[in-house]
Amino acid sequence: MARRKLIAGNWKMNPTLAKGLLLARDVVEQTRGVDADILVIPPTAFLTSVHQAIAQSHVRLGAQNLHPERAGAYTGEVSGGMLAELGVSSVLCGHSERRELFGESPDFVGTKVAAAHREGLLPILCVGETLEARDAGTTEQVVASQLQAGLASLLPIQIAMTVIAYEPVWAIGTGRNATAAQAQAVHAFIRGWLRARIGEHADDVRILYGGSVKPNNARELLAEPDVDGALVGGASLDAVGFGEIAKAIPTA
Ligand code: PEP
Repeated sequence: MARRKLIAGNWKMNPTLAKGLLLARDVVEQTRGVDADILVIPPTAFLTSVHQAIAQSHVRLGAQNLHPERAGAYTGEVSGGMLAELGVSSVLCGHSERRELFGESPDFVGTKVAAAHREGLLPILCVGETLEARDAGTTEQVVASQLQAGLASLLPIQIAMTVIAYEPVWAIGTGRNATAAQAQAVHAFIRGWLRARIGEHADDVRILYGGSVKPNNARELLAEPDVDGALVGGASLDAVGFGEIAKAIPTA
C-alpha cells in the first residue's frame, strides 16, 4: 500500500493570534484538493482558536510538544490528553530545538512518543545530526541512537504508526537544505533500521524530510522514494508558499 504523503507546518513561537488565524484559513484554501495529509502546528496557546479556524476542513491540527505524564505538578506543561481534548491529532516529539535549547534527552523524547500513543495522538519523532556529526561521518550512528531511544518502549504496531521526521540540524532555519540525494540516503537508512526492527511494516512508516524546505526545492525532495512528506518551519508561515510545497508532491 502506498504511503500517504504528509505535509506539516511547524509555526514554532510564531505568529500573532490574528495572523495565525488568517494563516490557518489561508492554508485551508491553498491546500484544497492536494492529495496528502495537511497538518498545521501552531503554538500551544493558539490551538483552540486554530482548531475553530480549520473546523470542517481537510487540515488537521498538530502540537509542538507534550509532557509525558498524564497530569500532576508540572508547571507550564501540557499533557497529551489535554492536547487531544483540544482537537489535536498529532504531536512533534524531540524537535532539535527542544533537544538543544531545552535539554531533552533521547530517553525523555522516547517517553513523549509513548505518551502520545497512549493518548491516541500520532507522534512525529524528529531525528537528525549536527554539522559536526555529519562532518565526522557519524550521521547514521546519531540517527540510529535517536531512533533506538525514541521508539524504545513501543510495540511494533505502534512503531508502524509513528511518523519519523529526518531533520538535519544544520539545515533547520539556515536556508541550506539537504540535497535530495542526501535526504534519500538517510531516509533509506532509517527505513532499513525500521525493517530490522519491525520487518515489512517498515514500509508503512512515513518518513518526512525537514530543514529549509521551500517552494523551490520541495519538488526534488518529495520525488525521492523514501521521502514521504515534509516538516516545514519558516516557509509554513506563508500560506501560498506552504501550498506550493504541498502541490509539489508528485502525482501518482
Ligand atoms: C523545523 O523547524 O522543523 C524546520 C524544518 O524549520 P525550517 O523549515 O525553517 O528549516
